[in-house]
Amino acid sequence: MTNNMNIASPEKHYQVIVVGAGITGLTTAIHLKEAGANVHILEQKDRIGGQIASFREGDFVFESGPNTGVVNCPEVIELFELSDTKLLTPNPNVKRRLIWKNNQFHQLPSNMVQGLTTSLFTWKDKFRILGEPWRKPGSNPDESVADLVRRRMGKSFLDYAINPFLSGVYAGNAETLITRYALPKLYNLEQDYGSFIRGAIKKAHQPKSEREKKVTKEIFSAPNGLQTLTDSIATKIGKECFTLGTKDCHIWPINKQKEPNETVANAQKVSESSPKWLISYVVEGETHYISSDYVVTTTGAYQLKELLPFVDKEATESFDSLRYAPVIQVAVSISDIKGHTPLSYGGLIPSHSGEPTLGILFPSSCYTGKAPDGGALFTVFLGGVHHPEVLNMSNKEIEKIIHHDLYNMLNLPKEVTIDALHIFRHRKAIPQYEINSGQRFKYIHQLEAQYEGLYLGGNMIGGIGLADRIKQGTTIAKAIIKSNSFF
Ligand SMILES: Cc1cc2nc3c(=O)[nH]c(=O)nc-3n(C[C@H](O)[C@H](O)[C@H](O)COP(=O)(O)OP(=O)(O)OC[C@H]3O[C@@H](n4cnc5c(N)ncnc54)[C@H](O)[C@@H]3O)c2cc1C
Repeated sequence: MTNNMNIASPEKHYQVIVVGAGITGLTTAIHLKEAGANVHILEQKDRIGGQIASFREGDFVFESGPNTGVVNCPEVIELFELSDTKLLTPNPNVKRRLIWKNNQFHQLPSNMVQGLTTSLFTWKDKFRILGEPWRKPGSNPDESVADLVRRRMGKSFLDYAINPFLSGVYAGNAETLITRYALPKLYNLEQDYGSFIRGAIKKAHQPKSEREKKVTKEIFSAPNGLQTLTDSIATKIGKECFTLGTKDCHIWPINKQKEPNETVANAQKVSESSPKWLISYVVEGETHYISSDYVVTTTGAYQLKELLPFVDKEATESFDSLRYAPVIQVAVSISDIKGHTPLSYGGLIPSHSGEPTLGILFPSSCYTGKAPDGGALFTVFLGGVHHPEVLNMSNKEIEKIIHHDLYNMLNLPKEVTIDALHIFRHRKAIPQYEINSGQRFKYIHQLEAQYEGLYLGGNMIGGIGLADRIKQGTTIAKAIIKSNSFF
Protein backbone atom coordinates (compact mmCIF):
# COMPACT_ATOMS: atom_id res chain seq x y z
CA MET A 1 0.00 0.00 0.00
CA THR A 2 1.12 3.57 -0.56
CA ASN A 3 -0.18 6.86 0.69
CA ASN A 4 -1.73 7.40 -2.77
CA MET A 5 -3.57 4.10 -2.72
CA ASN A 6 -6.94 3.94 -4.30
CA ILE A 7 -9.06 3.85 -1.17
CA ALA A 8 -11.56 1.10 -1.74
CA SER A 9 -14.84 2.37 -0.45
CA PRO A 10 -14.96 1.14 3.14
CA GLU A 11 -17.58 -1.48 3.97
CA LYS A 12 -18.42 0.14 7.28
CA HIS A 13 -17.71 3.23 9.26
CA TYR A 14 -17.17 3.28 13.03
CA GLN A 15 -16.55 6.23 15.26
CA VAL A 16 -13.78 4.40 17.10
CA ILE A 17 -11.67 1.37 16.18
CA VAL A 18 -9.77 -0.27 19.03
CA VAL A 19 -7.00 -2.70 18.06
CA GLY A 20 -6.50 -5.40 20.68
CA ALA A 21 -9.01 -7.02 23.05
CA GLY A 22 -6.78 -7.16 26.12
CA ILE A 23 -7.71 -5.33 29.31
CA THR A 24 -6.54 -1.95 27.90
CA GLY A 25 -8.64 -2.19 24.74
CA LEU A 26 -11.64 -3.59 26.61
CA THR A 27 -11.52 -0.81 29.20
CA THR A 28 -11.33 1.84 26.47
CA ALA A 29 -14.20 0.22 24.57
CA ILE A 30 -16.59 -0.24 27.49
CA HIS A 31 -16.29 3.41 28.52
CA LEU A 32 -16.82 4.56 24.93
CA LYS A 33 -19.80 2.24 24.52
CA GLU A 34 -21.24 3.58 27.76
CA ALA A 35 -20.96 7.10 26.31
CA GLY A 36 -22.92 5.99 23.24
CA ALA A 37 -20.04 5.67 20.77
CA ASN A 38 -20.10 3.34 17.81
CA VAL A 39 -16.97 1.40 18.75
CA HIS A 40 -15.51 -1.74 17.17
CA ILE A 41 -12.64 -3.92 18.37
CA LEU A 42 -10.25 -5.85 16.11
CA GLU A 43 -8.41 -8.76 17.73
CA GLN A 44 -5.92 -11.04 16.00
CA LYS A 45 -6.55 -14.01 18.29
CA ASP A 46 -9.79 -15.98 18.33
CA ARG A 47 -10.39 -15.10 21.97
CA ILE A 48 -10.95 -11.97 24.07
CA GLY A 49 -8.80 -11.04 27.07
CA GLY A 50 -5.23 -10.68 25.76
CA GLN A 51 -2.75 -11.76 28.43
CA ILE A 52 -5.60 -12.41 30.87
CA ALA A 53 -6.75 -16.03 30.54
CA SER A 54 -8.29 -18.22 33.25
CA PHE A 55 -9.72 -21.71 33.15
CA ARG A 56 -11.31 -24.13 35.57
CA GLU A 57 -10.46 -27.80 36.16
CA GLY A 58 -12.73 -29.31 38.78
CA ASP A 59 -12.55 -26.95 41.75
CA PHE A 60 -9.23 -25.39 40.68
CA VAL A 61 -9.16 -21.98 38.96
CA PHE A 62 -5.98 -21.54 36.91
CA GLU A 63 -4.52 -18.39 35.40
CA SER A 64 -2.10 -18.54 32.48
CA GLY A 65 -1.25 -14.82 32.61
CA PRO A 66 -1.67 -12.29 35.42
CA ASN A 67 -2.84 -13.76 38.74
CA THR A 68 -3.67 -10.67 40.65
CA GLY A 69 -3.83 -6.88 40.32
CA VAL A 70 -3.54 -4.08 42.87
CA VAL A 71 -6.30 -1.54 43.52
CA ASN A 72 -4.00 1.46 43.21
CA CYS A 73 -6.34 3.71 41.27
CA PRO A 74 -10.13 4.29 41.49
CA GLU A 75 -10.55 3.30 37.83
CA VAL A 76 -10.13 -0.37 38.88
CA ILE A 77 -13.15 -0.30 41.19
CA GLU A 78 -15.13 1.72 38.66
CA LEU A 79 -14.42 -0.87 35.93
CA PHE A 80 -15.60 -3.74 38.15
CA GLU A 81 -18.78 -1.76 38.91
CA LEU A 82 -19.38 -0.81 35.26
CA SER A 83 -18.98 -4.42 34.09
CA ASP A 84 -21.05 -5.89 36.98
CA THR A 85 -18.10 -8.06 38.05
CA LYS A 86 -17.57 -9.13 41.64
CA LEU A 87 -14.20 -7.94 42.94
CA LEU A 88 -12.45 -10.77 44.79
CA THR A 89 -10.44 -9.38 47.71
CA PRO A 90 -7.70 -11.32 49.55
CA ASN A 91 -8.23 -13.31 52.73
CA PRO A 92 -7.53 -10.83 55.54
CA ASN A 93 -5.38 -13.33 57.47
CA VAL A 94 -2.95 -13.73 54.59
CA LYS A 95 -0.63 -10.75 54.53
CA ARG A 96 2.88 -12.18 54.69
CA ARG A 97 5.27 -11.91 51.77
CA LEU A 98 8.37 -14.06 51.71
CA ILE A 99 11.88 -13.37 50.39
CA TRP A 100 14.50 -16.02 49.62
CA LYS A 101 17.85 -15.55 51.39
CA ASN A 102 20.58 -18.03 52.36
CA ASN A 103 18.55 -21.06 51.23
CA GLN A 104 15.36 -20.26 53.08
CA PHE A 105 12.34 -17.98 52.91
CA HIS A 106 12.12 -15.04 55.36
CA GLN A 107 9.15 -12.80 56.02
CA LEU A 108 9.40 -9.36 54.41
CA PRO A 109 8.97 -6.83 57.25
CA SER A 110 5.70 -4.93 57.23
CA ASN A 111 6.27 -2.69 60.26
CA MET A 112 9.06 -0.88 62.12
CA VAL A 113 9.67 -3.64 64.71
CA GLN A 114 9.91 -6.35 62.04
CA GLY A 115 12.12 -3.99 60.04
CA LEU A 116 14.59 -3.76 62.92
CA THR A 117 14.60 -7.48 63.76
CA THR A 118 14.63 -8.97 60.24
CA SER A 119 17.71 -10.80 59.06
CA LEU A 120 17.06 -9.70 55.48
CA PHE A 121 18.83 -6.34 55.89
CA THR A 122 22.21 -5.53 57.44
CA TRP A 123 22.37 -3.43 60.62
CA LYS A 124 24.26 -0.79 58.68
CA ASP A 125 21.37 -0.49 56.21
CA LYS A 126 18.73 -0.55 58.98
CA PHE A 127 20.36 2.59 60.41
CA ARG A 128 20.77 3.94 56.90
CA ILE A 129 17.01 3.56 56.28
CA LEU A 130 16.31 5.48 59.52
CA GLY A 131 18.38 8.34 58.05
CA GLU A 132 16.64 8.22 54.66
CA PRO A 133 14.43 11.31 55.24
CA TRP A 134 17.54 13.46 55.63
CA ARG A 135 19.46 12.16 52.60
CA LYS A 136 19.96 14.55 49.68
CA PRO A 137 17.74 13.95 46.59
CA GLY A 138 19.52 12.65 43.49
CA SER A 139 20.13 14.78 40.41
CA ASN A 140 20.34 12.18 37.63
CA PRO A 141 16.90 11.88 36.00
CA ASP A 142 17.98 8.64 34.29
CA GLU A 143 19.14 6.92 37.46
CA SER A 144 18.53 3.17 37.52
CA VAL A 145 16.36 1.68 40.27
CA ALA A 146 19.46 -0.10 41.63
CA ASP A 147 21.52 3.10 41.87
CA LEU A 148 18.67 5.04 43.47
CA VAL A 149 17.93 2.39 46.10
CA ARG A 150 21.62 1.78 46.92
CA ARG A 151 22.04 5.56 47.37
CA ARG A 152 19.00 6.08 49.61
CA MET A 153 18.46 2.74 51.41
CA GLY A 154 21.60 0.61 51.03
CA LYS A 155 22.64 -2.55 49.18
CA SER A 156 20.88 -5.11 51.36
CA PHE A 157 17.57 -3.26 50.90
CA LEU A 158 18.14 -3.37 47.14
CA ASP A 159 19.06 -7.08 47.25
CA TYR A 160 16.28 -8.33 49.52
CA ALA A 161 13.38 -5.90 48.97
CA ILE A 162 13.54 -4.07 45.65
CA ASN A 163 15.37 -6.63 43.53
CA PRO A 164 12.89 -9.47 44.33
CA PHE A 165 9.98 -7.02 43.94
CA LEU A 166 11.24 -6.18 40.43
CA SER A 167 11.61 -9.91 39.69
CA GLY A 168 7.94 -10.29 40.64
CA VAL A 169 6.61 -7.29 38.76
CA TYR A 170 8.92 -6.76 35.76
CA ALA A 171 10.84 -10.06 35.63
CA GLY A 172 13.48 -7.40 35.17
CA ASN A 173 16.90 -6.09 36.13
CA ALA A 174 17.17 -3.32 38.75
CA GLU A 175 20.44 -2.15 37.15
CA THR A 176 18.78 -1.38 33.80
CA LEU A 177 15.22 -0.38 34.75
CA ILE A 178 15.11 3.43 34.95
CA THR A 179 13.28 4.67 38.05
CA ARG A 180 11.32 7.54 36.51
CA TYR A 181 9.90 5.19 33.85
CA ALA A 182 9.63 1.88 35.74
CA LEU A 183 8.64 3.14 39.19
CA PRO A 184 7.42 6.71 38.59
CA LYS A 185 5.63 6.92 41.97
CA LEU A 186 8.87 6.14 43.82
CA TYR A 187 10.78 8.61 41.63
CA ASN A 188 8.23 11.34 42.31
CA LEU A 189 8.35 10.77 46.08
CA GLU A 190 12.02 11.72 46.06
CA GLN A 191 11.54 14.58 43.57
CA ASP A 192 8.47 16.08 45.27
CA TYR A 193 9.20 15.44 48.94
CA GLY A 194 12.97 14.87 49.02
CA SER A 195 12.55 11.43 50.62
CA PHE A 196 10.55 8.21 50.16
CA ILE A 197 9.65 7.97 53.84
CA ARG A 198 8.78 11.65 54.30
CA GLY A 199 6.80 11.63 51.04
CA ALA A 200 4.88 8.46 51.94
CA ILE A 201 3.97 9.85 55.40
CA LYS A 202 2.85 13.23 53.96
CA LYS A 203 0.78 11.53 51.25
CA ALA A 204 -0.87 9.21 53.79
CA HIS A 205 -2.00 12.27 55.79
CA GLN A 206 -3.39 14.24 52.85
CA PRO A 207 -7.21 14.51 52.85
CA LYS A 208 -8.82 12.13 50.36
CA SER A 209 -11.89 12.58 48.17
CA GLU A 210 -14.57 9.86 48.18
CA ARG A 211 -13.17 8.66 44.84
CA GLU A 212 -9.59 8.51 46.19
CA LYS A 213 -10.83 6.46 49.14
CA LYS A 214 -11.59 3.62 46.70
CA VAL A 215 -7.82 3.15 46.35
CA THR A 216 -7.27 0.43 48.96
CA LYS A 217 -3.85 -0.76 47.63
CA GLU A 218 -5.20 -4.28 48.18
CA ILE A 219 -4.67 -7.05 45.68
CA PHE A 220 -7.66 -8.25 43.66
CA SER A 221 -8.87 -11.07 41.46
CA ALA A 222 -12.32 -12.20 40.31
CA PRO A 223 -14.33 -15.27 41.40
CA ASN A 224 -13.65 -17.51 38.40
CA GLY A 225 -10.30 -15.93 37.66
CA LEU A 226 -9.44 -12.59 36.10
CA GLN A 227 -11.02 -13.66 32.83
CA THR A 228 -14.39 -13.23 34.55
CA LEU A 229 -13.67 -9.49 34.36
CA THR A 230 -12.69 -9.46 30.67
CA ASP A 231 -15.61 -11.77 29.77
CA SER A 232 -18.08 -9.52 31.61
CA ILE A 233 -16.70 -6.42 29.90
CA ALA A 234 -16.99 -8.13 26.51
CA THR A 235 -20.60 -9.12 27.23
CA LYS A 236 -21.43 -5.53 28.24
CA ILE A 237 -19.83 -4.17 25.07
CA GLY A 238 -21.68 -6.73 22.94
CA LYS A 239 -20.37 -9.62 20.78
CA GLU A 240 -21.30 -7.71 17.61
CA CYS A 241 -18.67 -5.08 18.47
CA PHE A 242 -15.75 -7.53 18.04
CA THR A 243 -14.04 -8.99 15.01
CA LEU A 244 -11.75 -11.82 16.11
CA GLY A 245 -9.04 -13.65 14.18
CA THR A 246 -7.92 -10.60 12.19
CA LYS A 247 -4.66 -10.82 10.25
CA ASP A 248 -2.49 -8.25 8.42
CA CYS A 249 -4.18 -5.27 10.01
CA HIS A 250 -2.96 -1.92 8.62
CA ILE A 251 -4.10 1.54 9.56
CA TRP A 252 -3.80 4.60 7.31
CA PRO A 253 -4.60 8.28 7.86
CA ILE A 254 -7.11 9.33 5.17
CA ASN A 255 -7.51 13.03 5.45
CA LYS A 256 -4.46 14.86 6.50
CA GLN A 257 -2.17 15.47 9.33
CA LYS A 258 -3.00 18.20 11.78
CA GLU A 259 -1.59 21.51 10.49
CA PRO A 260 0.73 23.04 13.07
CA ASN A 261 -1.49 26.16 13.29
CA GLU A 262 -4.86 24.44 12.82
CA THR A 263 -7.46 25.77 15.17
CA VAL A 264 -9.54 23.49 17.34
CA ALA A 265 -12.65 24.74 15.52
CA ASN A 266 -11.23 23.69 12.13
CA ALA A 267 -10.13 20.33 13.46
CA GLN A 268 -13.64 19.81 14.77
CA LYS A 269 -15.05 20.52 11.29
CA VAL A 270 -12.82 17.83 9.82
CA SER A 271 -13.97 15.31 12.39
CA GLU A 272 -17.60 16.09 11.65
CA SER A 273 -17.26 15.98 7.88
CA SER A 274 -15.27 12.89 6.99
CA PRO A 275 -13.52 9.90 8.52
CA LYS A 276 -9.86 10.17 9.36
CA TRP A 277 -8.72 6.57 9.24
CA LEU A 278 -8.84 3.67 6.83
CA ILE A 279 -8.24 0.23 8.31
CA SER A 280 -7.62 -2.93 6.32
CA TYR A 281 -7.52 -6.45 7.72
CA VAL A 282 -7.96 -10.04 6.59
CA VAL A 283 -10.38 -12.54 8.12
CA GLU A 284 -10.55 -16.09 6.73
CA GLY A 285 -8.62 -15.05 3.63
CA GLU A 286 -10.87 -12.11 2.79
CA THR A 287 -9.60 -8.53 2.94
CA HIS A 288 -11.88 -5.97 4.57
CA TYR A 289 -11.73 -2.17 4.54
CA ILE A 290 -13.38 -0.07 7.20
CA SER A 291 -13.05 3.57 8.23
CA SER A 292 -13.16 5.40 11.54
CA ASP A 293 -12.78 8.80 13.17
CA TYR A 294 -10.55 7.52 15.95
CA VAL A 295 -8.07 4.67 16.22
CA VAL A 296 -6.74 3.29 19.50
CA THR A 297 -3.91 0.74 19.39
CA THR A 298 -3.24 -1.39 22.48
CA THR A 299 -0.83 -3.96 21.04
CA GLY A 300 2.80 -4.69 21.88
CA ALA A 301 5.29 -2.08 20.59
CA TYR A 302 6.75 -4.66 18.18
CA GLN A 303 3.40 -4.79 16.31
CA LEU A 304 3.30 -1.09 15.45
CA LYS A 305 5.59 -1.17 12.41
CA GLU A 306 3.16 -3.45 10.58
CA LEU A 307 0.04 -1.88 12.04
CA LEU A 308 0.97 1.74 11.24
CA PRO A 309 2.89 1.59 7.94
CA PHE A 310 2.86 5.40 7.57
CA VAL A 311 5.06 5.90 10.65
CA ASP A 312 8.66 6.82 9.87
CA LYS A 313 11.68 4.58 10.44
CA GLU A 314 13.09 6.37 13.50
CA ALA A 315 9.84 5.93 15.43
CA THR A 316 9.34 2.27 14.46
CA GLU A 317 12.97 1.51 15.31
CA SER A 318 12.38 3.03 18.71
CA PHE A 319 9.25 0.86 19.19
CA ASP A 320 11.15 -2.23 18.00
CA SER A 321 13.97 -1.57 20.46
CA LEU A 322 11.69 -2.10 23.47
CA ARG A 323 12.95 -5.22 25.26
CA TYR A 324 10.40 -7.73 26.61
CA ALA A 325 11.25 -10.13 29.44
CA PRO A 326 10.39 -13.75 28.61
CA VAL A 327 8.47 -15.57 31.35
CA ILE A 328 7.32 -19.13 31.87
CA GLN A 329 4.38 -19.46 34.17
CA VAL A 330 3.64 -22.84 35.72
CA ALA A 331 0.35 -23.46 37.51
CA VAL A 332 0.41 -26.42 39.90
CA SER A 333 -2.62 -28.00 41.56
CA ILE A 334 -2.47 -30.24 44.64
CA SER A 335 -5.76 -31.73 45.82
CA ASP A 336 -4.47 -32.84 49.25
CA ILE A 337 -1.94 -30.44 50.75
CA LYS A 338 -2.02 -32.40 54.05
CA GLY A 339 -2.19 -29.30 56.24
CA HIS A 340 0.84 -27.59 54.66
CA THR A 341 -1.13 -24.64 53.26
CA PRO A 342 1.26 -21.67 53.21
CA LEU A 343 -0.24 -18.72 55.10
CA SER A 344 1.31 -16.22 52.79
CA TYR A 345 0.80 -14.33 49.57
CA GLY A 346 3.89 -15.88 48.03
CA GLY A 347 7.67 -15.84 47.92
CA LEU A 348 10.02 -13.82 45.73
CA ILE A 349 13.55 -14.75 44.79
CA PRO A 350 16.36 -12.18 44.30
CA SER A 351 18.14 -12.45 40.95
CA HIS A 352 21.60 -12.97 42.48
CA SER A 353 20.41 -16.26 44.08
CA GLY A 354 21.15 -17.96 40.75
CA GLU A 355 17.73 -19.67 40.81
CA PRO A 356 15.84 -19.53 37.47
CA THR A 357 12.64 -19.01 39.51
CA LEU A 358 11.43 -15.43 39.92
CA GLY A 359 8.74 -16.13 42.47
CA ILE A 360 6.05 -18.51 43.69
CA LEU A 361 2.50 -17.30 44.34
CA PHE A 362 -0.02 -19.10 46.56
CA PRO A 363 -3.33 -18.05 44.92
CA SER A 364 -5.45 -20.48 46.98
CA SER A 365 -4.05 -18.99 50.20
CA CYS A 366 -4.82 -15.43 49.05
CA TYR A 367 -8.31 -16.03 47.71
CA THR A 368 -11.13 -18.37 48.61
CA GLY A 369 -12.56 -20.47 45.80
CA LYS A 370 -9.35 -21.05 43.84
CA ALA A 371 -8.84 -24.64 45.05
CA PRO A 372 -11.02 -27.32 46.69
CA ASP A 373 -11.05 -27.64 50.49
CA GLY A 374 -7.84 -29.26 51.64
CA GLY A 375 -6.16 -28.54 48.31
CA ALA A 376 -3.77 -25.82 47.13
CA LEU A 377 -2.78 -23.98 44.00
CA PHE A 378 0.74 -22.68 43.31
CA THR A 379 1.88 -20.41 40.49
CA VAL A 380 5.58 -20.38 39.71
CA PHE A 381 7.22 -17.77 37.47
CA LEU A 382 10.52 -18.62 35.78
CA GLY A 383 12.94 -16.81 33.49
CA GLY A 384 12.83 -13.05 33.13
CA VAL A 385 15.72 -11.00 31.75
CA HIS A 386 18.21 -12.84 34.00
CA HIS A 387 17.25 -16.34 32.80
CA PRO A 388 15.89 -16.14 29.23
CA GLU A 389 17.32 -19.63 28.58
CA VAL A 390 14.42 -21.27 30.44
CA LEU A 391 12.13 -20.45 27.52
CA ASN A 392 14.01 -23.08 25.50
CA MET A 393 13.82 -25.78 28.15
CA SER A 394 11.74 -28.89 27.61
CA ASN A 395 8.66 -29.54 29.74
CA LYS A 396 10.63 -32.24 31.58
CA GLU A 397 13.38 -29.77 32.53
CA ILE A 398 10.79 -27.26 33.71
CA GLU A 399 9.00 -29.90 35.80
CA LYS A 400 12.34 -30.66 37.47
CA ILE A 401 12.70 -26.99 38.48
CA ILE A 402 9.13 -26.96 39.83
CA HIS A 403 9.80 -30.06 41.94
CA HIS A 404 12.93 -28.37 43.34
CA ASP A 405 10.92 -25.20 44.10
CA LEU A 406 8.06 -26.99 45.86
CA TYR A 407 9.94 -29.72 47.72
CA ASN A 408 13.33 -28.06 48.41
CA MET A 409 12.56 -24.36 48.59
CA LEU A 410 9.03 -24.50 50.05
CA ASN A 411 9.82 -27.71 51.94
CA LEU A 412 6.60 -29.54 51.03
CA PRO A 413 6.87 -33.12 52.30
CA LYS A 414 7.24 -35.84 49.63
CA GLU A 415 3.84 -37.38 50.50
CA VAL A 416 2.16 -34.23 49.15
CA THR A 417 1.79 -35.03 45.46
CA ILE A 418 1.13 -32.84 42.44
CA ASP A 419 -2.14 -33.45 40.58
CA ALA A 420 -1.72 -31.26 37.52
CA LEU A 421 1.00 -29.01 36.21
CA HIS A 422 0.31 -26.54 33.38
CA ILE A 423 3.17 -24.75 31.61
CA PHE A 424 2.59 -21.44 29.78
CA ARG A 425 5.42 -19.88 27.76
CA HIS A 426 5.32 -16.10 27.28
CA ARG A 427 8.17 -15.07 24.95
CA LYS A 428 7.30 -11.38 25.12
CA ALA A 429 5.78 -11.16 28.58
CA ILE A 430 6.74 -7.88 30.23
CA PRO A 431 8.09 -4.71 28.56
CA GLN A 432 11.18 -3.31 30.26
CA TYR A 433 11.08 0.41 31.01
CA GLU A 434 14.78 0.93 30.36
CA ILE A 435 16.86 3.89 29.17
CA ASN A 436 15.26 3.94 25.66
CA SER A 437 11.79 4.54 27.16
CA GLY A 438 12.08 8.34 27.02
CA GLN A 439 12.59 8.24 23.28
CA ARG A 440 9.71 5.78 22.82
CA PHE A 441 7.36 8.00 24.85
CA LYS A 442 8.49 11.03 22.81
CA TYR A 443 7.59 9.33 19.51
CA ILE A 444 4.23 8.17 20.89
CA HIS A 445 3.35 11.71 21.98
CA GLN A 446 4.60 13.16 18.68
CA LEU A 447 2.46 10.78 16.60
CA GLU A 448 -0.62 11.44 18.71
CA ALA A 449 -0.08 15.20 18.34
CA GLN A 450 0.56 14.93 14.61
CA TYR A 451 -2.34 12.63 13.65
CA GLU A 452 -5.76 13.64 14.81
CA GLY A 453 -7.77 10.82 16.35
CA LEU A 454 -4.76 8.51 16.94
CA TYR A 455 -4.13 7.05 20.42
CA LEU A 456 -1.24 4.69 21.08
CA GLY A 457 -1.86 2.72 24.26
CA GLY A 458 -0.93 -0.69 25.63
CA ASN A 459 1.75 -1.55 28.15
CA MET A 460 4.63 0.01 26.18
CA ILE A 461 3.65 3.28 27.91
CA GLY A 462 1.89 4.12 31.16
CA GLY A 463 2.91 1.06 33.20
CA ILE A 464 2.57 -2.70 32.97
CA GLY A 465 0.28 -3.52 35.94
CA LEU A 466 -3.41 -4.27 35.46
CA ALA A 467 -4.35 -1.09 37.31
CA ASP A 468 -2.10 0.94 34.98
CA ARG A 469 -3.81 -0.69 32.00
CA ILE A 470 -7.28 0.05 33.34
CA LYS A 471 -6.31 3.64 34.12
CA GLN A 472 -4.86 4.15 30.65
CA GLY A 473 -7.90 2.64 28.90
CA THR A 474 -10.20 4.90 30.93
CA THR A 475 -8.08 7.99 30.22
CA ILE A 476 -8.03 7.34 26.46
CA ALA A 477 -11.81 6.82 26.40
CA LYS A 478 -12.38 10.03 28.37
CA ALA A 479 -10.07 11.99 26.04
CA ILE A 480 -12.00 10.76 22.99
CA ILE A 481 -15.36 11.51 24.61
CA LYS A 482 -14.16 15.02 25.54
CA SER A 483 -12.80 15.79 22.08
CA ASN A 484 -15.97 14.76 20.34
CA SER A 485 -19.36 16.31 19.93
CA PHE A 486 -21.17 13.57 18.03
CA PHE A 487 -21.70 10.90 20.67
C1 LIG B 1 2.83 -14.16 32.60
C2 LIG B 1 2.37 -12.77 32.99
C3 LIG B 1 2.02 -12.51 34.30
C4 LIG B 1 1.60 -11.24 34.67
N1 LIG B 1 1.23 -11.03 35.97
C5 LIG B 1 0.70 -9.85 36.32
C6 LIG B 1 0.13 -9.68 37.59
O1 LIG B 1 0.09 -10.62 38.41
N2 LIG B 1 -0.38 -8.46 37.93
C7 LIG B 1 -0.40 -7.43 37.03
O2 LIG B 1 -0.89 -6.35 37.39
N3 LIG B 1 0.10 -7.56 35.78
C8 LIG B 1 0.63 -8.75 35.40
N4 LIG B 1 1.11 -8.91 34.13
C9 LIG B 1 1.07 -7.78 33.19
C10 LIG B 1 -0.35 -7.57 32.62
O3 LIG B 1 -0.97 -8.81 32.51
C11 LIG B 1 -0.29 -6.90 31.25
O4 LIG B 1 0.45 -5.70 31.29
C12 LIG B 1 -1.69 -6.61 30.74
O5 LIG B 1 -2.53 -7.73 30.80
C13 LIG B 1 -1.58 -6.13 29.30
O6 LIG B 1 -2.86 -5.79 28.85
P1 LIG B 1 -3.03 -5.08 27.43
O7 LIG B 1 -4.45 -5.05 27.11
O8 LIG B 1 -2.29 -3.78 27.43
O9 LIG B 1 -2.22 -6.02 26.42
P2 LIG B 1 -2.59 -7.50 25.99
O10 LIG B 1 -3.27 -8.24 27.05
O11 LIG B 1 -1.33 -8.06 25.42
O12 LIG B 1 -3.65 -7.27 24.82
C14 LIG B 1 -3.27 -6.82 23.53
C15 LIG B 1 -4.14 -7.54 22.53
O13 LIG B 1 -3.83 -7.05 21.23
C16 LIG B 1 -3.88 -8.14 20.32
N5 LIG B 1 -3.09 -7.77 19.13
C17 LIG B 1 -1.76 -7.63 19.05
N6 LIG B 1 -1.41 -7.26 17.80
C18 LIG B 1 -2.56 -7.18 17.08
C19 LIG B 1 -2.85 -6.84 15.72
N7 LIG B 1 -1.88 -6.53 14.84
N8 LIG B 1 -4.15 -6.86 15.32
C20 LIG B 1 -5.15 -7.17 16.20
N9 LIG B 1 -4.92 -7.50 17.49
C21 LIG B 1 -3.64 -7.49 17.93
C22 LIG B 1 -3.28 -9.28 21.11
O14 LIG B 1 -3.62 -10.54 20.56
C23 LIG B 1 -3.89 -9.05 22.49
O15 LIG B 1 -5.10 -9.73 22.65
C24 LIG B 1 1.54 -10.19 33.71
C25 LIG B 1 1.89 -10.45 32.38
C26 LIG B 1 2.29 -11.72 32.02
C27 LIG B 1 2.63 -12.01 30.57
